[in-house]
Amino acid sequence: MAKHSRDDLKNKMYTELSFPPLNVWGDDEAQMNWLEQLDITPYDYPYTEALLKASYEDWKKQASDLSQHDGVKWFITNHLGEILNQEYEPELITGVERQLVSTSIRECLEKQSSAIIKSATGIWIATPIVTRDHSELFALMGCYMDGEPSQAAQMLVKAAAQHFRSCFYKRFENLFVSDLLNIQKQAKREENRRSMLFQVVQRLHDKIDVDSVITEVFERIAGMYPAGKLELLMSQDHPSRDPRVKSLQLQGQEQEDYMCVRAFMEGRMLRKEYTNKDGEPIIEIAVPLIGKQGVYGVFHLTLQQEGIEDIDLQLIGMLADTAGTAFENAKLYEQSNLLISELRLINELTKRLNQSLKLKEVFKFATDELLSIFQAEFCCITQIDQESDIFEIVSCNVPSLSKEIFPKDYGFCGLVFSTREPIILSDYKAYGKVTSRLMDETESRSMIAAPLIVGGEVNGAIILAHRNERFFSYENYKLLQVLASHIGLAISNASLHAEVRKMANRDMLTGLYARHYLDDAIQNYQKKDVNGSLIIVDIDQFKQVNDTFGHQTGDKILKQVCAIVKSSIRKSDVPARWGGEELAIYLPGADVENCYQIAETIRLRVAMETDPPVTVSCGVSEWREYDDKVSVESLFYQADMALYKSKNNGRNQTQIGN
Ligand code: GH3
Ligand code: MG
Ligand code: MG
Repeated sequence: MAKHSRDDLKNKMYTELSFPPLNVWGDDEAQMNWLEQLDITPYDYPYTEALLKASYEDWKKQASDLSQHDGVKWFITNHLGEILNQEYEPELITGVERQLVSTSIRECLEKQSSAIIKSATGIWIATPIVTRDHSELFALMGCYMDGEPSQAAQMLVKAAAQHFRSCFYKRFENLFVSDLLNIQKQAKREENRRSMLFQVVQRLHDKIDVDSVITEVFERIAGMYPAGKLELLMSQDHPSRDPRVKSLQLQGQEQEDYMCVRAFMEGRMLRKEYTNKDGEPIIEIAVPLIGKQGVYGVFHLTLQQEGIEDIDLQLIGMLADTAGTAFENAKLYEQSNLLISELRLINELTKRLNQSLKLKEVFKFATDELLSIFQAEFCCITQIDQESDIFEIVSCNVPSLSKEIFPKDYGFCGLVFSTREPIILSDYKAYGKVTSRLMDETESRSMIAAPLIVGGEVNGAIILAHRNERFFSYENYKLLQVLASHIGLAISNASLHAEVRKMANRDMLTGLYARHYLDDAIQNYQKKDVNGSLIIVDIDQFKQVNDTFGHQTGDKILKQVCAIVKSSIRKSDVPARWGGEELAIYLPGADVENCYQIAETIRLRVAMETDPPVTVSCGVSEWREYDDKVSVESLFYQADMALYKSKNNGRNQTQIGN
């Protein structure tokens, strides 16, 4: 049945049939409102017609004697004079008859009373059906019969019309009542929804972990639509045990995901209604999960039903809004917790890293800690050798790789060195652009790497690997960067410390060891060796050299003597500056004869090679494990005595102490 517009209806009433509008409800506005509202009731527009038809059926049943009386053809019209009952034969009201019927209707209307029209074939009796207060006419009832119109027949039609009117009112009231009940039901449902929403808001805001927020929303929507299919498509990686949580593919999306991508991009709810291949009606709804700082994902609800009420859509929208805010809060809370624990971790790590000032220990400790912090299976720390353009694996829990050396541009370390950037790799197998022995030998799939920066320069790299793909999260990757900077600092501290220690053990002017270092060294050798020898070298008449050539030249000569000493001994021997112009050399494992030879070599070379030329006097001594007293002091004492002897004997000679 076509739906008429308000104007259509009026035109029909005024012009075509030249009837004033008939109004059962008092005024036009109310009538139209009703008509519009009734669009969704079982009585479709034009509802009066439907009501009239239904009432006619009621009447026919109730007054069956009358309605089925031979020779009488009943008809019922609407207020526009259109005959509504199906069984009425249309040919009866064509042509002249129609004119007559029309006239009778007009008469009925004007007089508000029955009309009787005689035609060639019989008589028409029509009686108006008016409202109870007689103010409005809404239908006509009548009949066509053969013969003369008797008083009884007129009465009969009137009575039938009265009866029909009762049937109509009953229907009419039923309509009101059922509508009222509908409204009541609707109100009740809305109340339920509101109270549900209120509960959800309360419960969601109690949640501080992201997963329970999501679970709560799932439960709520599942409660509303038990047969519906709900999934949550997240825009960022969100590890969840719930299989309904998936990731939203923004690129290369399937047609069915397109609505979700659009809902995500446009930040608003979208709906799609269609029939599936089995002919069942389907509704799909995509609602974005929005917080104040952005869109996090899209709820995708699929229902096997026809149509959805606006109020339900509103509720789903409000639920998603609440979930968005709660999700964001929970996420922020989680992030701040993560940040706190990361800060704690960094604090702890740096404290422990700085406890050790030995590079080797720093590397070992960092490796162990990184493996445990990131739950990684493999860890590798490398250091660059700036001079030779290679890097060395200084610490690694893969034995076949430790101490290995690679060209500076090899593998992921090479990439880190050249870009100075950290790397996160979810699947080495699929990547294929870089060859890595660490990844190959350990059959690792995931990796994170970060540069070790010392004093603004990349001096190495850290690589963590795992055999599972997609093992490391973006948070892991960021944390490694932070930890790497602290490990870099610890390395730098340890390196500086090693440098200072080296300096403290050396004499600045000559580059020889300092006296305390020699003392410690001899003491250590005396603990483990069976013998060893000492040479003391003293420049002759050095005071005079200074006086003659000046201190600067004196220093130069002193350095020359030291160079001669260094180049005359083994790598394992320990040369030291013992006093002003006195040098001492310890020769581990050497006996006194050997030692004498070395001292003599030095003495002869000094005499020949220094410029201005100087000579030296030497004293040598030896210790053996079965000596009465083995000590650093007695060894020095004996060598000193021998030196004294050399000096007394005329200088430029070597004497052996005993
Ligand atoms: P002797 O043959 O008995 O050893 O005579 P000497 O003059 O070398 O002995 P002495 O111990 O009296 O003097 C040592 C001198 O060595 C005193 C000092 O001027 C000089 N001397 C000590 N250390 C340095 C140094 O670092 N540089 C210079 N230029 N001179 C030094
Ligand atoms: Mg001296
Ligand atoms: Mg001297």
